[in-house]
Amino acid sequence: MDRCKNRNGKHLPVELNKYEKVTMHYLWMVALFLILSDGFACFVTAQAVFNRKLFISQVVLFLVLLFSIVLRVVIVGKTPYKPGFFYALMKTSDILLLLLLVTTTRYGFLFYFVILLPIISICISRGFAATLPYICFSYVAHIIILYGRLANHHDALKNVFFFQHQLWRLAFLTALYLFFTVGLRILGTYHDQFTQSEKDNRNLVDKLGRKYAQLEEARKEKQDQYDKLKEVNLQLEDTNKKLTSSIAEFFTLQQISQAISSIFDMNELLQFVNDVIIGVMGVSTSNIALYDIGGERLKVQVSNIVHKKDRAILTDNINTPYLKDAAEHGRTIINNSVNPDEFDFTRGRNVRSLLCVPLQVKGKSYGLVLIEHSIPEAFGEDNVRLLEIITQQISIAIDNTRLYEQLQEFANTDGLTQIYNRVFFQNRLQVELKRAQQQGYEVSVILFDIDNFKRFNDSYGHLFGDIVLKTLAQMLKDSIRQDDIVARFGGEEFIILLPHTGMDFAFEKAEELRNMIEKLTIRDKTISASVTVSMGVSTFPTLAQNETVLLTSADKALYKAKNSGKNCVRVANHNM
Ligand code: GH3
Ligand code: MG
Ligand code: MG
Repeated sequence: MDRCKNRNGKHLPVELNKYEKVTMHYLWMVALFLILSDGFACFVTAQAVFNRKLFISQVVLFLVLLFSIVLRVVIVGKTPYKPGFFYALMKTSDILLLLLLVTTTRYGFLFYFVILLPIISICISRGFAATLPYICFSYVAHIIILYGRLANHHDALKNVFFFQHQLWRLAFLTALYLFFTVGLRILGTYHDQFTQSEKDNRNLVDKLGRKYAQLEEARKEKQDQYDKLKEVNLQLEDTNKKLTSSIAEFFTLQQISQAISSIFDMNELLQFVNDVIIGVMGVSTSNIALYDIGGERLKVQVSNIVHKKDRAILTDNINTPYLKDAAEHGRTIINNSVNPDEFDFTRGRNVRSLLCVPLQVKGKSYGLVLIEHSIPEAFGEDNVRLLEIITQQISIAIDNTRLYEQLQEFANTDGLTQIYNRVFFQNRLQVELKRAQQQGYEVSVILFDIDNFKRFNDSYGHLFGDIVLKTLAQMLKDSIRQDDIVARFGGEEFIILLPHTGMDFAFEKAEELRNMIEKLTIRDKTISASVTVSMGVSTFPTLAQNETVLLTSADKALYKAKNSGKNCVRVANHNM
C-alpha cells in the first residue's frame, strides 16, 4: 500500500496526500481554537474562574505542539513524508498532545473529535488498517489520562457534571471510539477504492507510458528510415543530375570529335565548336581567338557577336593583358561578378560573368575560348570542366592541323633553297591555269637556267655553287609580287609563275631579273663571283593553250636563249 513501482520497476515512497500535510501543519490552529473556545464556553456559562495551573499547562501543551509542527516544517519538512519511525512519532505526539489539551479543557468531552483529526488524516492518506494502532494508542492513552493523576487533580474534570460514575465514563469513551472506528472504516473503504483506482490509473498511465515509449521508438525508427530514404533519394537525384550532365557532355564531346574528323577546314571547325558551346552552355556569347602566325597577337577567329561595333571592340581589345596572360600561361579565368565597365573587351555589352579557357597543348599556346553571360554567377565548376575538355580537344585538332601544314610545307619546299619545289609548282600551275581559263586572265612563266654552272662549280667548288643557288633563290623571292611563285625546277633551273601577267610584262620582268642577277656579286669568305642566267618566257593562253605546252614552250625559249649566246631572255613562239 505504501509503496508503488515506477516505470523502471523501482520502489518509490508513497507521498502523503495534501490533506494530511494540511492537517499536520495547521494542527496548532485547531489547538488554539480548542483553548479559546473552551475559555469562551466558560465565560458564557459564567464559570470563568481563572485557573492559573490549567492555563499554564494549556499554553505549554500548545507551545509544544506548535514547536513540533515548526520543527517538522522547518527541518524535517524539506524531506518528503514517508511512513516510518519519524512519521509514527509525529502522529503519536500529535494525538497525545491533543489528548492532553482536550483533557485540560473544562468541556473536553465536547471536543473529543479533535483527537481524531490526526487519525482521520492517516486514514485518508494510508487507509483504515494503518489507523488501527493509532486508534488503540489513542484509546489507551485516553483512558490513562482520564483516570490518571493529572485527571484527578484537575478541576475541569470535576466540573464535568455528566458521567460522574467511572464505569459510565469508560462505556461512553469506548462507545465513542467504536463509533469513530466504524466511521473510519467507512472512510477507509473510500480510501481503499481511491487507492485502488489510483493504482489502476497509475498502472494504466504506466502502460500508456510504455505504449507511448514503444510508439515513440517506432516513430523514431520510422523517422530514421524516412531520413535515410530522403538522403538516399537526394544522393540518387544528385547522381542522376551528374549522369544527365555527363551524358550531355559525352554527346557534346562526341559531336566535337566527329566534327574534328570530318571538317578539315579549321575555320569551319572552330565555327562549329563555337556553336556547340553556345548550345550546350546556353551562354550569351562565345568567342575563339587564335594567335597569329608570328605567335605574338591574338586574333578573334570566330564569334557569335553579330553587332559589328561590339565585335570590333572585342577584336581590338582581345590582346588585353588580362586575357593574354591566361592564354600564355595556360590559366583558366572565371569571373562571376563582372563589372560592365571593368574590361575594355566587354565595353558596350551586358557581360556579367565570363569564363576564359586557354587553348594549349604540349605546352604550346594556340589562343583561347572566351564565353560570356549576361547574368552574374553564371559559371560553375561543371562549366569550367566541360569547357576545359572541349578546349583540349580543339587544341589537339589545331595542333594536328598545324603539324599537317608544317609537313605539307616541308613536302612542298626545296631543301637547299627553301623555295617551292617542282611538284608544288606544277600543282599550283594546274590550279592557276584552271582559274585563269575560267576567269579569262593571262598567266606567264619564266623558266631560267644558270649559264655554265658546271664550269662554275668546277672553278669555285660545289659548296660555293650551293651558296649561289641559295642566294639567287632568296633574291628571286624578294623580287616577285605576293601572288607570284618562284620554285626550283631542276638542278640549277628556276621557274617563276606570274598570274594575271601578259607576255610583254613577263618579258620585262624576266629582263629585270636577269639584269639583277648579272649585277649580283655572291661572296664567300674567300670567293667573290657572279653568274648569269638565260631565260625563256611563255604565256597562257596567248602562246600556249595548256600546262604542258606552256612549260615546253618556255623550255624551248630558254634553249633559244642559250643558243643565242646565253645571259638573255627569249619569248616563246606560237609554233613552238
Ligand atoms: P649551260 O649554260 O648550257 O646550262 O651549261 P651548264 O654547265 O650549266 O649545263 P649543265 O646542265 O651541263 O650543268 C649543270 C650543272 O649544274 C651540273 C651540276 O654540277 C650543277 N648543279 C646541279 N644541281 C646542283 C646543285 O644542287 N648544287 C651545285 N653546286 N651544283 C649543281
Ligand atoms: Mg641546266
Ligand atoms: Mg646551266
